[in-house]
Amino acid sequence: NVSVVLFTSDLRLHDQPPLRAALDGSREVVPLFVVDRAVAAAGFTAPNRLAFLADCLRDLDTGLRERGGRLVVRSGDVVEEVCRVACEADADEVHMAADVSAYARLREARLRRALEGEGRRLHVHDTVTTAVPPGALTPASSDHYAVFTPYFRQWSRQPLRDALGAPRTVRVPGPIGSEDLPSRRGLPGLSQGLAPGGEAAGRRRLTAWLRDGVAAYEDRHDDLAGDATSRLSPHLHFGTLSPVELVHRARRKGGGGADAFVRQLAWRDFHRQVLAARPDAADSDYRTKRDRWRSGRAAQEDIEAWREGRTGYPVVDAAMRQLMHEGWMHNRGRLLTASFLTKTLYIDWRVGARHFLELLVDGDLANNQLNWQWVAGTGTDTRPNRVLNPVAQARRHDPDGAYVRRWVPELAGIEGPAVHEPWKLSASERAACASYPDPVVDLSEGLARFRRARGRE
Ligand code: FAD
Repeated sequence: NVSVVLFTSDLRLHDQPPLRAALDGSREVVPLFVVDRAVAAAGFTAPNRLAFLADCLRDLDTGLRERGGRLVVRSGDVVEEVCRVACEADADEVHMAADVSAYARLREARLRRALEGEGRRLHVHDTVTTAVPPGALTPASSDHYAVFTPYFRQWSRQPLRDALGAPRTVRVPGPIGSEDLPSRRGLPGLSQGLAPGGEAAGRRRLTAWLRDGVAAYEDRHDDLAGDATSRLSPHLHFGTLSPVELVHRARRKGGGGADAFVRQLAWRDFHRQVLAARPDAADSDYRTKRDRWRSGRAAQEDIEAWREGRTGYPVVDAAMRQLMHEGWMHNRGRLLTASFLTKTLYIDWRVGARHFLELLVDGDLANNQLNWQWVAGTGTDTRPNRVLNPVAQARRHDPDGAYVRRWVPELAGIEGPAVHEPWKLSASERAACASYPDPVVDLSEGLARFRRARGRE
């Protein structure tokens, strides 16, 4: 008998439960990836992510070929293509990973109906894209946790299954046709410093991180210039690394850094269980409805300045330019740029979330939208009215100004923390960096506006 494995956000061979189940139950397996027309139609096709995806598919195909198999790639409607391939291969089962977005769940339901109509079974596997499945942990009064700390307490106690090794051999039935693998070549608008994708690159980074990086994570994760986080987020987004395996390996490593790192992995599961329970939170305010966001011409100009990294607040601009250049931004940068947009400029979080999704190589519906809501004070933050002051943030997390100098060349000649407040420079020093803009808004004005708006909500 034959099974189809539909790869989605789990583009790996290690710790791959759908593939393992298919291999255990079948003589032959068709590893399938469908370039889904609906995902493209929804505009979820940022070039940076398409490039990373192309790397991932190429690497997955290489790994499968080393084991005697290959990856079958099709494009079109995902349900029609899976049914077509299942029919061509005469497969009786399809295996895939569970996922949380409204679209993923619709896809699963449609696929189940279509396959069952043809007498085939769909198996959906948990703990592939999360360590702890959404819905596995619930407080007494709700179907999901809305606050991280109690969730994390339960999450930490939850036993995890063992991580699976990669299969030795994969036998694919002969006559199944495949399209060419997508390529990153020719994609327009790629960020220059984009990291390479694929399981092999992800595993190398993970090993190096556990060996050299994680021990200092607790102390250094907020150091903007130190860049001392794992940068594993795109690998977690595309599933080239398994969250279950990451938690096990970090726990084996042990220590305060590894504990702090595991806690961040729990944040990822936390946001997923929120989105699974409330799929509308991808677009709508999750906890507190707010509707006094600024709009109109002046707001539009502020949005443009924010996007392009010319707000006049050096640390905000540095982070926005890092995003442009690398398709990635440090978490502290994400926090302070999102706070600046939603609280200092008082712009709707959806505007910022959309811009991030256009550029982030790790752009992820659950993590992006719910982190944006967390910062904007519409989501799960228990202190929704805290405002991050960009100058205080800069002094604290970029004390010497090295991060700003790296990303804002107009200010590269200003030494030390003075770089964070160019408006305080002497006239001659300011003249030397005259191409750098003045602040789009005075911080005290921004704060007064914030308080007025929140007072009326
Ligand atoms: P590390 O610090 O090494 O953390 C390890 C892993 O834990 C990350 O790879 C990530 O999977 C997870 N993680 C860390 N912090 C968070 C968090 N706050 N919430 C959920 N998971 C977390 N992360 C994304 O993966 N995709 C996004 O689209 C995304 N958008 C964000 C938007 C905003 C406004 C904010 C404030 C945060 C966003 N994050 C997002 C979360 C976080 O900033 C990134 O996961 C992190 O910066 C990635 O870098 P890293 O892999 O070096 O993280």
